[in-house]
Amino acid sequence: MARDVKSVCSYCGVGCGLIVSTDGQRITGLRGDPRHPANFGKLCPKGATLAQTIDVTTRLRHAMMRSPGATAAERFLRVAPSEAIAHVSAELRLIVDAHGPSAVAFYLSGQMTTEAQYVANKFAKGCLGTNHCDSNSRLCMSAAANSMNLSLGSDGPPASYADIDLADAYLFVGSNAADCHPITFTRAKTRIDKGKAKCVVVDPRRTPTAEAAHVHLPVRPGTDLALLNGLLHILTVWGKIDRAYVDAHTEGWAELEQLIQGYTPTRVAEICGIDREQFLKAAKLIADHDKLVTCWTMGVNQTVQGTFAGNAIINLHLATGRIGKPGAGPFSLTGQPNAMGGRDVGYMSHQLPGQRLIANPDHRAQMERAWGLPAGTIGATPGYDAVRMFEAMATGEIKALWVIGTNPAASMPNLPAIRAGLEKLKLCVVQDAYFPTETTRYAHVLLPAAVNLEQIGTFTNSERRVTLMEQAATPPGDAKPDWWWVQQVAGAMGYARGMSYTSAAQIFDEFARTTAGRPNDQSALYHPLLKERGPQQWPYPAMGKPAERRYVDGVFPTPTGKARLWAREWLEMADAPGRRFPLILTTGRVLNQWHTRTKTGAVPALNKLDPCPYLQMHPDDAERLGLHDRQQVDVASKFGTASTFLKLDDTITRGVVFMPIHWNELWGHAASCNEATTDARDPISKQPSLKAVAVRVTAVGRGEQGGAVAHDEPAETARTPIPVPVY
Ligand code: SF4
Repeated sequence: MARDVKSVCSYCGVGCGLIVSTDGQRITGLRGDPRHPANFGKLCPKGATLAQTIDVTTRLRHAMMRSPGATAAERFLRVAPSEAIAHVSAELRLIVDAHGPSAVAFYLSGQMTTEAQYVANKFAKGCLGTNHCDSNSRLCMSAAANSMNLSLGSDGPPASYADIDLADAYLFVGSNAADCHPITFTRAKTRIDKGKAKCVVVDPRRTPTAEAAHVHLPVRPGTDLALLNGLLHILTVWGKIDRAYVDAHTEGWAELEQLIQGYTPTRVAEICGIDREQFLKAAKLIADHDKLVTCWTMGVNQTVQGTFAGNAIINLHLATGRIGKPGAGPFSLTGQPNAMGGRDVGYMSHQLPGQRLIANPDHRAQMERAWGLPAGTIGATPGYDAVRMFEAMATGEIKALWVIGTNPAASMPNLPAIRAGLEKLKLCVVQDAYFPTETTRYAHVLLPAAVNLEQIGTFTNSERRVTLMEQAATPPGDAKPDWWWVQQVAGAMGYARGMSYTSAAQIFDEFARTTAGRPNDQSALYHPLLKERGPQQWPYPAMGKPAERRYVDGVFPTPTGKARLWAREWLEMADAPGRRFPLILTTGRVLNQWHTRTKTGAVPALNKLDPCPYLQMHPDDAERLGLHDRQQVDVASKFGTASTFLKLDDTITRGVVFMPIHWNELWGHAASCNEATTDARDPISKQPSLKAVAVRVTAVGRGEQGGAVAHDEPAETARTPIPVPVY
């Protein structure tokens, strides 16, 4: 029957609401939901074309298998879902019995529904007994989550999109929101254009976000912490610290005040490679506007000091009392559509649902009671982070991997090391809506997943808003919601008790109950309420008031009730550029592609707008290296070598090169930037430093001549031609 249903975009963390027209089986139209508070009807080109990603030739429609130990060249054979489920459950049982549960790992995704994330996490940590259950949020939001936990006592941003509409100044740090969170950025841009707000952007590239700024600070990658300490230093000198707020609601000021004395404007300008006067201009703008919203994302998170830099952003707001007030607050923008939901269900390897920690015995006991497990069932040791998991596969410690809704063979850093792990697996299950992907090459079993428009479930966006997705289309072939596959395997392994859900609504009810009394309390939410009243923000407790803005009373969920100001010293990046690798490679998204292009690669309009990969380089660097526009180049680090085409423009800082993350091995040999990225990690969040690695750039296969240094890797001779770029 023809009707309109409500859903949410499955790309970025803005979480735009959709109205999807359906004939009961197929989608007949899609538009922005004018009543959804994330977008009020607007959509960017990706969201507007989302329906075109459903019925495509690259959909995985049936379960497929190839024999254990098969090579990547061996063909998959279609099997019945029951056969795939029996095979996966039998193989997992053999591995668990022979090697223990920690020989099994799960790698989940911020593109799964909250319900699926919850079930997979419960199956791993509660049923099987392995804490090696991590997610691609480790690559994305782990540093932001840790910084909010350490500074404020809880994950989840204090501010809301409504604060962006009220702010009179914006500070974007490591965030190209114009391309990566376009609809949210539109709200800020509207105020900037009307003269109602000022804007400072901190980014090594003059991105579209930076183009809109009153001051752009083109910092060297990895120096945000120095800049933020310097901003607080100058605000202190100018008497802009809110001493009453600091005394009443924070602790740690004395230590922080001492540390920031060393971050003078002159030193900060030197560390960051920026103009001192521009830095002071930015500081003045921030000092003069109380209603400040600071947005940060991957440029901060994906560095070895990502957590510390997040702390420094929050310091800035706490020390000036600009938090918990209309139009003011630190606001970490989420990369994926449901990374916030994933963090709520505890889908990283150190977490449990309701912002609980595996390392906390009380938290484990609470979840054992909630899941009806005997005391002591949940392992006391946090599982490995994503990079460590793949390292453990390479050594044979982890023997089975179940990947759901993500593509680690393209998106993980230092791909040569990731492939070494994948190749050693005895069992690799890949559950995805698309085939092939770079990761399916290593799979023994493929399980076809429904996409979000084909199922019921929830996503939680950047501003903690939970949106219910109604089903708009029938999944093709044997495709099913992610939670269904996990539950079937759990049942076949004897874990049917507690894993026999009949609906996504039932799963959500169980999850929501686990949040009662926790900082992310959403225990009063349930699917029918979301359908009736529309998307809601947490906290949404049973006996309290839902909150659009957190910490309005200055009370924080810490042992003392006060927020913590952290004195964090800036450190030079571990692999700083030098003689062998003189440039810094930074990576990121472009507006019209998404992650590894499993979806956007199928949309002609998007491919026309952002057609191909490239390496962005300043013309002065190219001239110095004897390189020219559109030339095919090798981008080599000590980890590996990527290959792509040069795109020269002066919007990037000299000494820095940029490569988008979207084009990978299926596009062309060594096409992925992650052939060269580093797996060095922030020691607190374990988030890899995808934003900064030292590289050299040389004419393809001619390292000695294109760069200033000797080429110590053998040059490739046989190459798959990469499609010639069209800009
Ligand atoms: Fe989707 Fe993000 Fe675009 Fe909104 S801004 S339509 S959530 S990709």
